[in-house]
Amino acid sequence: MTTLVWFRQDLRIADNPALFEAAARGSVLPVFVLDEGPGDNTHPLGAASRWWLHHSLEALARDLGRLVLLHGDPQRLIPELARAAGVGAVHWNRCYEPHAVRRDTALKAALIAAGVEVRSFNAALLNEPWELETKTGGPFKVFSPYWRAALARPVATPLPRPPRLEIAAGQAGDRLDDWRLRPTAPDWAAGWRDLWHPGEAGAAERLEHFLEAGLDGYATLRDRPDLSHVSRLSPHLHFGEVSPRQVVARTRFAAGRTPGLERDADKFLAEIGWREFSHHLLYHFPRLPERNWKSTFDAYPWRDSSGDLAVWQRGQTGYPMVDAGMRELWATGYMHNRVRMLAASFLVKHLRLDWRLGEAWFRDTLVDADLANNAAGWQWVAGSGADAAPYFRIFSPVGQGRRFDPGGAYVRRWCPELARLPDDHVHAPFDAPAVVLKAAGVELGRTYPHPIVDHAAARAEALAGYEAVRRAG
Ligand code: FAD
Repeated sequence: MTTLVWFRQDLRIADNPALFEAAARGSVLPVFVLDEGPGDNTHPLGAASRWWLHHSLEALARDLGRLVLLHGDPQRLIPELARAAGVGAVHWNRCYEPHAVRRDTALKAALIAAGVEVRSFNAALLNEPWELETKTGGPFKVFSPYWRAALARPVATPLPRPPRLEIAAGQAGDRLDDWRLRPTAPDWAAGWRDLWHPGEAGAAERLEHFLEAGLDGYATLRDRPDLSHVSRLSPHLHFGEVSPRQVVARTRFAAGRTPGLERDADKFLAEIGWREFSHHLLYHFPRLPERNWKSTFDAYPWRDSSGDLAVWQRGQTGYPMVDAGMRELWATGYMHNRVRMLAASFLVKHLRLDWRLGEAWFRDTLVDADLANNAAGWQWVAGSGADAAPYFRIFSPVGQGRRFDPGGAYVRRWCPELARLPDDHVHAPFDAPAVVLKAAGVELGRTYPHPIVDHAAARAEALAGYEAVRRAG
């Protein structure tokens, strides 16, 4: 029997239950569908994600030997292909974004009505969003009890690659290059092949490298963007090139082999827990990417300034730690988590621009853009989300820089025009004496911008705006 396996956010061969079960039953017809709308998906793939997807599909097609590529609406294409190929069943691994849930539910019903067997599996999460509930029976809204409940459940052992994989012949599809997922004029991703290795092999390499070189010290050093103590697994996890079950198994194995890594491993796995929690929230609150989770924030008096938004996007705010983060994002498709929190906070609190503008920019520019993690991250920073940072806690860009990039290496890397400033001044060039600026070749307003806002004044205005939220509460 031939089974159609519809790949989506599970671009791997190992620990892929839809593929494993299909391969055990006979031959496999592997398919990927690029759906670019119109449809009801209001969050299409961003430009950086498209670049990643191209390379990830290329790697998967190579590893499988063959992958049928189709372009259009899966609700039409999957039944058509199933019929044309005469498959006995259709398998997929479940997705949890609201439009995907609606699409898959409808497609499953249509296939069953047409007499095709459908099986779906969990490949993306340790616990599916409906598997954990509070004692009173609802979804969790706070991370700590959520993660405690998750830790109380065993984690399934990852599946190996299918021992025998026979790929069905026939059925032509599109050419990957014709999808034009990669940028051309200009090719802003030209250097990314040196930074990132999309695909299952690249994900495994990244995980092993992190466990060898980054895990030791993770609990304390993960907040330092000037160091390399984070895994950078996020795009691999988003596209399903590695599964959270594999990450847990390999991390526990590494921690069990080397004494003293337990705390680091627990902290790292708790971050995987935040990913789980974000998916739990998105599933239960499907408007999370569009609406304030706390509706009192609807009263917040956001400013409207496309000029300030552009200054933030280009990393020209005059606050070096914020600018370094925004430039790292543009240059690499990634930003360190600590700096994401600061850059996002700056947009929302110092510039008082709506978090949805930042969410959209991140969605377009991050290689790990993920509807659940991104929306939950932005709402956490804005104060409007579940278990969020309190609105009145406003990060000082200078204080955060001095604390988490103490020698200024991160800022010097991404804002090279400040590289010659001494450590004392690299996070606040606007406070440096003229003679220091001159010696470092910095001319404010010419080689590096004056601060777009004054920190103390911006803080006061943000708090004044927050009064409207309090009154609404
Ligand atoms: P590590 O520290 O090595 O963590 C391991 C894994 O845990 C990550 O790969 C990720 O899958 C998960 N993880 C870590 N922190 C978080 C978190 N706070 N929330 C959810 N999952 C987490 N993450 C995305 O994957 N996609 C996004 O679009 C995204 N947008 C964000 C937007 C904002 C405003 C903020 C504050 C955070 C966002 N994050 C997002 C979460 C986090 O910043 C990234 O997951 C992390 O920086 C990725 O780097 P890493 O793989 O080296 O992390």
